[in-house]
Amino acid sequence: MADVRLTRRYRFSASHRLHSEQLSVEENRAVYGKCNNPYGHGHDYVVDVTIRGYVDETRGRLISIDALDQFVQAVVLKNFDRRNLNVEVSEFATLSPTTEVLSQVIARRLSEAWPIAFGGSGARLEKLRIRETRNNIFEVLAPEPVGREDKFDEISESRS
Ligand SMILES: [Zn+2]
Repeated sequence: MADVRLTRRYRFSASHRLHSEQLSVEENRAVYGKCNNPYGHGHDYVVDVTIRGYVDETRGRLISIDALDQFVQAVVLKNFDRRNLNVEVSEFATLSPTTEVLSQVIARRLSEAWPIAFGGSGARLEKLRIRETRNNIFEVLAPEPVGREDKFDEISESRS
């Protein structure tokens, strides 16, 4: 059985303001420049989710694409698309929603929910790439999955 990687592309649009409560007004301006504008701005994010694993010999597939789409919809797109990241995504109550941090937040959410949806599949989440602008692309390796019961409920509900 071959070891294969699959990358599936998703998109969402969201607004944010880069700002840290731990920095002064001047420091925020110096670190974030025009992205510290109090009224925020938006991006059309492109998210590449990479899965790695062994191909099922009977089906010849690594993972069901439909199941992956439903999973990413429930865990990520539903919670991030058309949102104000600073206000509507809990992690950004304390963290500045830079795409460095956004990619880690999304990778962590996917990793935590992964074992519930695909734990028995032999496929694992490998990495996440987010394109913020034409010239800014961020990539993180997925953290080791840690299953959580509350995530299971969240996913089950959104699928029904
Ligand atoms: Zn921005």
